[in-house]
This record gives sequence, C-alpha cells and structure tokens, in this order.
Amino acid sequence: MKKFSSIRGTTDFDALEAGIFYDLTQKARNTLVRFGFEEIMLPVLEEQGLFLKGIGESSDITERQMFKIEGKDTVLRPEGTAGVIRFFIEHSLYKKSGFYKFFYIGPMFRGERPQKGRLRQFNHIGVEAIGSSSIYLDAEVIILLMKILDQLGVRDKQLIVNTLGCAKDKSALNKILFSDLKNKKESLCDNCKRRLDKNPLRVLDCKQSLCRETVASLKLENSYLCGDCLDSFKKLLSILDSFGVEYKNDPYLVRGLDYYTNTVFEVTSTKIGSQDAIAAGGRYNNLTKSLGGPDVPAIGFAVGVERVMLLLDKEDKRTELDVFIASTSQKLQEAAFEILNKLRDAGFVADCDYLDKSLKGQLRAAQKRGARFVIILAEEEFKNNTVALKDMRKNSQTLIEMTQVVKSLKEKI
Ligand SMILES: [Zn+2]
Ligand SMILES: [Zn+2]
Repeated sequence: MKKFSSIRGTTDFDALEAGIFYDLTQKARNTLVRFGFEEIMLPVLEEQGLFLKGIGESSDITERQMFKIEGKDTVLRPEGTAGVIRFFIEHSLYKKSGFYKFFYIGPMFRGERPQKGRLRQFNHIGVEAIGSSSIYLDAEVIILLMKILDQLGVRDKQLIVNTLGCAKDKSALNKILFSDLKNKKESLCDNCKRRLDKNPLRVLDCKQSLCRETVASLKLENSYLCGDCLDSFKKLLSILDSFGVEYKNDPYLVRGLDYYTNTVFEVTSTKIGSQDAIAAGGRYNNLTKSLGGPDVPAIGFAVGVERVMLLLDKEDKRTELDVFIASTSQKLQEAAFEILNKLRDAGFVADCDYLDKSLKGQLRAAQKRGARFVIILAEEEFKNNTVALKDMRKNSQTLIEMTQVVKSLKEKI
C-alpha cells in the first residue's frame, strides 16, 4: 500500500509546535492591539492579477513562485499586503475613515521548488497601516516590529533600514543602476541580465552570489534622493536613535516587490543566515492607486512565523491536566464519564482513559499528561458514594463524597 507523506515544503506542527505557534501569535496579537491595530482575516485564495499588478510582473514571486490553481485565474496568496489593499478598496473603507491599522495572522504559499528555509506553506504575522505618510508612523511600525520580536524571544537580530525615496527618486535610482550595471552584465546571473532592462532594482535583491558581488562593487550612496526624502529619512533615523532602536543603514537594501517606495527595512538573524530575513517591510505609497483605489500612502511589514520558531528554544506550552478520572472497572465507566463532564463544565481541564487500561496504566497516563489530581472510582467506595482523590504532587490520597468532587477540587486548585 502506498504510504502518504506531507507535500515537500510543508510542515506538520505537533502539539508542542502548535503550542509554541499559538503562544507566540498570541503574544504578538496582544502587542499589536496595544499599538492600536485591528485584526482582519482574509481568504487565502485571491485572483492572480492582484499580485501581478500589485507585486509586479518581473518579481521573483510572480515570475516563479505563485501557487496557481490549475485551470483558474486563482492563486494561493503569496503574501498578505495586496489582499489587504484589495479589501480596503473593495469595501471603500477610504470613504469611512482616513486612517486604518490592520494586522493579520495566517498562511501564505509559494509554488517554487522548496529550499532550506523556504517553505511552500508558511505563516505570516502581517501589519498594514493605511492612510498616512507621517514619518512617525514609519517609526512606530519599526518600533512595533522590534518590540514584537523582543517579546517573542528573538535575540541576535539585526535591523537594516534604507529608503528608496519617492517614485521620482526610485526611477533616478533605477537609471543609476542601469548605467552602472549595463557594463557589468557579464557578471550577473541570467535572470538579472534579463531584468536589467525592465527593472534594474531587482538586481539589488538577487540572492545569487555572483550578483551580490557585482552589486557590492557599485558603491551606492543616497545621492538619488530628493531633499524631502533625504530629510524625512534622517528624521526617521533620529527618532529610532532617540528610542534606542539599533539599526544599520544599508543603501543596498531594496525589497523584492515593486510596490515599495521610501522606507524599507528588514530584520535578519545571524542564526539562520542573512539571506533569509525573519521580518521585512516598508512603505508602499503607490500600491493602492495602482490597484485601482485612491492615492493613499501606506506602510507595513510581515514576520515569518516559522523562521522565528527556528530561533526559539522549544519550550513546551502544552496544557497540563488539572484532573484525570480513573476507574477500577468498566462497570464504573458511566459514573466516571458523568464526573468527567461535570468537572469540565466547572472549568477544569479534565480527561480520562479510553483504552480500558488497568488502574496502574491509567495512573501512568495521568502522570504523562501532567495531571495535578486523579479521581479514582473503585467498586467498594462507589457503593458508599465516595471516590478517592489522589494528589499527584504530594502522592497522597483522600476519600471524598461523590457530590463534593467539584467543591473539593475548587478548594485545592
Ligand atoms: Zn523624493
Ligand atoms: Zn541575479
């Protein structure tokens, strides 16, 4: 018989990992709410065109990595931002309020061949603040990201920031790159040779070592920035300084998606290698307009949850039982089942054995599940309407009235 295994590039979370996932998304959620962000949940299925238009046709994601549903114009979303903006435009939210702060937590998909650290299905915690171009919002979003990563326990991380400038500056940068790189075409990978004409910025984002060396020899500076953009970038850095946020300004940092303008940033970790950012984001002031909405500035970031999980010590977050119900014979099962459900209704984390184990086996199972107490139903005591209550930590046992089970446990826990 054929044995099935999970699709390459996908991961199963066992109870330990699911516990870690829940714990860290909940921590992030608490911080996000404190910063005034509201959670939204959008479908994983979106129209392919949304990403072609939003992310850009010559990006890695849209060229190679989209997970397309065969025979349909539908893809499994490769990232969250374009969907949030689709939602914002579709429901005309801009008519209701000038400013929104959204976050989402959920799976994203890539169709390319999976490599180390690059999964086919992975989770993002994403943030989008729509409607303001205040540089204080850029600062807030970066401070928020660092706070979340701190709270999740991510150490050895580095924040890299840069600015691409406004649309004008970005095209000036593209021109500089094109003229600098056209003589070095032979030192670029095939993809980049092709991209150079269409979108030279992409070359900066290429992960091939050949291209990275070529780019490093360019000696880029912020000379393409207009006065306003340079000033506001300096302001951003000074706010970060005053809040003690450590960063590196790297003029080679661009983000791989067309929609970014002005501030871009990412966080890398020495533990998983600098090529794979654990979080990345930036401003995308032109995306809403390019998707058919109004001209509204926005900024956001996404944290790769699985990458964060790689960096954390696996601390067991599984819930331990308050109480385990054991019985010495099958005849007592009905009574045991009744007590079990009474305890659950009273708010205890309670369970029993469904494998007809011996009492010894049941106690072992209770211990494995971390049960604080075990209630034992035995024939003789049952006739007298009593049950034994075993304290697993103290290894002591007392008899209690059947009707007092909930009350006695409430006193002890
Ligand atoms: Zn500018
Ligand atoms: Zn390349």
